[in-house]
Amino acid sequence: MKPLLNKVTDKLNRPLRDLRISIIDRCNFRCVYCMPKDVFGRGHPFLPREKILRFEEIARLARIFASLGVEKVRVTGGEPLLRKEVEKLIAMLTQIPNLDITLTTNGSRLAEKAQALKEAGLNRITVSLDSLDDTVFRAMNDVDFPVAQVLAGIDMAARVGLSPIKINAVIKRGLNDHSILPLARAFRGTGHILRFIEYMDVGQTNGWRMNDVISAAEIIETIDSEMPLAPVDANYKGEVAHRFRYRDGSGEIGIIASVTQPFCADCNRARLSADGHLFTCLFATKGYDLLGLLRSGVSDEQIVDFIVGVWQNRNDRYSEIRGTETVILPKIEMSYLGG
Ligand code: SAM
Ligand code: SF4
Ligand code: SF4
Repeated sequence: MKPLLNKVTDKLNRPLRDLRISIIDRCNFRCVYCMPKDVFGRGHPFLPREKILRFEEIARLARIFASLGVEKVRVTGGEPLLRKEVEKLIAMLTQIPNLDITLTTNGSRLAEKAQALKEAGLNRITVSLDSLDDTVFRAMNDVDFPVAQVLAGIDMAARVGLSPIKINAVIKRGLNDHSILPLARAFRGTGHILRFIEYMDVGQTNGWRMNDVISAAEIIETIDSEMPLAPVDANYKGEVAHRFRYRDGSGEIGIIASVTQPFCADCNRARLSADGHLFTCLFATKGYDLLGLLRSGVSDEQIVDFIVGVWQNRNDRYSEIRGTETVILPKIEMSYLGG
């Protein structure tokens, strides 16, 4: 495909650089802040197989997005490692020139998948891990999954060279705020980059309240009081995590302060749901059906035109305008949309 001379920008002059692709809406965890069990129970209507993007369709769309200026693709879900032969998809994506591919996982299947992912060309990975305390971890994933298995996955990922490994921890008040220091102590000096995420009001099911958010400032203060920190410049414009280094040189951490320090002004991310809908914001209330378009037999150029039209109309800045009116909007669940 011909590269476009003028990369697309939205109404707030933000380019399209980053694409998150949810490859599955199912998950083997029921994290209380993401897929609460009472909503995502036995009878929950997950997507039927024929409505989910096939690997060839994902790769085709990734190429098209790359031609529009996307530099990074994050494969996510749901739990992406539950998708059968996910390594085949990774191998297809890592062949696309000038595209950096990464994947976010809950780590439950990582020990068995790490080697195949590495061989498929994956270089980096992000593992979600909210606590090292087994009781807290089991309560947060709500399926009694042991933390030791995720730690074994992280070790295996490091052993096969999927590094640096990023470790994502969502902190919810009263649930795992006591896990902040143990997590920092455990990963300091390992080369893995621990990133704390403020608990967000994604979807409509997690019962989010501002009082449950532990702010980035509180997290930094907690760690700094024991392990002094200094801020570090962003690696690139639009980086979501604020970076801090340990003053003694033993590594760095990141904080994703989507609630208390929104970063919409530089947001260059698009999201593709498991059923091929394009979303221009994590908090969007509607998506655009790329799968329908793709399966109607249109050309790549027609798909490009469609995406350009959507992006040029984009003016999302949800986190900057978050308030009592926005919190009750009919937002889409993160497990479907892709975190
Ligand atoms: N299942 C994979 C995992 O957990 O890593 C990938 C999908 S998950 C939706 C992606 C990321 O979103 C995870 O790091 C998770 O912790 C984060 N997440 C989910 N719900 C969240 C919420 N309410 N607030 C902040 N982060 C959330
Ligand atoms: Fe599953 Fe990830 Fe959501 Fe937890 S955060 S329920 S692991 S999709
Ligand atoms: Fe981007 Fe929407 Fe998040 Fe703002 S709220 S940073 S526009 S995804």
